[in-house]
Amino acid sequence: MKKIKEVAGNNTSDLVEMNRSAIVRILQQMDVCSRADIAKITGLTQASITKIVAVLIDMGIVTEVGFVKGEGNRRSIGLRLNAEKNLVIGVKFSRHVFSIGVFDIRGKVYTQQETEFGLDEFASDVVVEMKKQIHDLLKKYKNVVAIGFAVPGPYLRKEGRIALVTKMPSWQNVNFVEEFENEFDKPVFIEQDANAGALAEWWFGNHGRPINSLAYFLAGEGVGSGIVDHDRLILGNLGIASEIGHISIDVKGPACECGNKGCLELYCSANALLKKAEEILPELFEEEYENRWEACNRVFLAAKEGNEKALELTEEIAEYLGYGCVTLINAYDPEIIVIGDSISQGGDLLLPTINKIVKERVIPEISGKVQIKISKLTVDPTLYGAAAIATDKVLRKPSEYLVSK
Ligand SMILES: [Zn+2]
Repeated sequence: MKKIKEVAGNNTSDLVEMNRSAIVRILQQMDVCSRADIAKITGLTQASITKIVAVLIDMGIVTEVGFVKGEGNRRSIGLRLNAEKNLVIGVKFSRHVFSIGVFDIRGKVYTQQETEFGLDEFASDVVVEMKKQIHDLLKKYKNVVAIGFAVPGPYLRKEGRIALVTKMPSWQNVNFVEEFENEFDKPVFIEQDANAGALAEWWFGNHGRPINSLAYFLAGEGVGSGIVDHDRLILGNLGIASEIGHISIDVKGPACECGNKGCLELYCSANALLKKAEEILPELFEEEYENRWEACNRVFLAAKEGNEKALELTEEIAEYLGYGCVTLINAYDPEIIVIGDSISQGGDLLLPTINKIVKERVIPEISGKVQIKISKLTVDPTLYGAAAIATDKVLRKPSEYLVSK
């Protein structure tokens, strides 16, 4: 008989590992904290914590560092996660470019590199180049414990392939799990880009704790979202839950490649912005742009300088982002929505309209409780997210994945 994951029980060894993971996850969020702090947050007894921390120190995962001030000015020994001993490689694959970076499990960046490729290039050639670059980094950085991949959604995680890559049909046949899982002597984890972005915000976004639920609204070449609810990604059956880019906001609207009509993605993606901008603001594109990220920024810069047409276009994009937020709020009840990727460069030009739409269209008791923010991550959130995918997995099973002495 098959084990059903959702109703599977926990053996004592699983519980021990869960408690270790809880402590490691708290330390990932804090620079230094004491055993008493951990007791307060986890509800575990001091005795349990002393025992678990001793094992983590013995394994080399946690180190004692000096003293921290606790309640009543009492000094307690500080604990710190040995992050620099546990690096992860993040790989972001997108339509025109793949990026690879090395990070530690607290999000510190060690290196990142980008490789562009053409839509007409064979997927298999690009895969070979990706593997080569990862092997090279593994030779250079000996402390890598896992590799995370962020791929464009909708990604069928059980099958290991992308269901639809707009304008790049050959990539639909690439099985990421088969290609990469056994290629390296490190564990490989793959998620879609919006889920990766959500994990990047969750682990590296400094939004404070506790947070019950965070939605990442990816507005880049495509549109999507990733939701972390009570410490877990919402995945659905196939792993494509929260694919808000393909929620119809006009059932009679233009046809989308997914088969639906009037999908949100057709109105507030970078592609939608640039298509319109090239029509009404051709002067901005007389000089060839370096990449689409920079092209979007040209429109927002023009808007900041007071260009009427650029302002109108930015306003229109913000309105549609607002509709997207309304859907996110009604569907997932997030505490924080973080908007990221190329469109988020519009920053403060976008937020007032987004907030206005949300206020008008969501019940006040709910809308008043949601914070809508623009991502402040300095690293590309999807690449950072790829690192966060690996980080999320290794923090859940520290004994299995983290470096021991
Ligand atoms: Zn669609």
